[in-house]
Amino acid sequence: ATAPVITVDGPSGAGKGTLCKAIAESLGWRLLDSGAIYRVLAMAALHHQVDITSEEALVPLAAHLDVCFVAQDGKLLVVLEGEDVSNEIRTETVGNTASRAAKLPRVREALLRRQRAFREEPGLVADGRDMGTVVFPDAPVKIFLDANAEERAQRRRLQLQERGFNVNFECLLAEIRERDDRDRNRAIAPLVPASDAFVLDSTSLSIVEVIQQALGYVQKVM
Ligand code: C5P
Repeated sequence: ATAPVITVDGPSGAGKGTLCKAIAESLGWRLLDSGAIYRVLAMAALHHQVDITSEEALVPLAAHLDVCFVAQDGKLLVVLEGEDVSNEIRTETVGNTASRAAKLPRVREALLRRQRAFREEPGLVADGRDMGTVVFPDAPVKIFLDANAEERAQRRRLQLQERGFNVNFECLLAEIRERDDRDRNRAIAPLVPASDAFVLDSTSLSIVEVIQQALGYVQKVM
């Protein structure tokens, strides 16, 4: 039998990361941050000066990507070619570059097996855009976490301010919208709720409420 999977898909900034961590901790399951893999690919392309629009050049890079996740002090470090890139991959530039590479069908294909390998007993919580639709279509529990763009930009601004960065709200909102449009409208594995997903709109919910509702749903269906 294959290990169970809970998929959590949705746009950037909806709170998927926090929710997935909470679910994984409460069940004692493994966590897959698939966005980090696309971000690391973007970083590797920048490092090695590979053209981000060239499928030809990106496929071998994706296939041989030297990335691993290392648990340290309750955090998962993202390590590329032996170097801790956990913070570097979180910038909006890397996110945007990642979403440009993520449009390319053969790049996605090259990362598929790597993502599926995270499925292990006792179970996996998978965070991304196409976890419930493409990577783990047979997952017994699927959640689609949404929130309107203004609210997501607002949360992101607060997060950045806490880290000492002051950013322009309009710029942030424009970047979020640009990346959303690209993710939602691409031809392959677009961001859409799976037909059997539980859609949770977090726009007017606190993170505690989001976790409560999602865990309530998980308990109900499992
Ligand atoms: O989730 P995160 O913002 O880290 O993802 C970065 C980008 O990687 C997304 O904007 C999206 O284009 C791409 N991605 C994807 N499929 C996934 C996860 C991320 O296409 N499963």
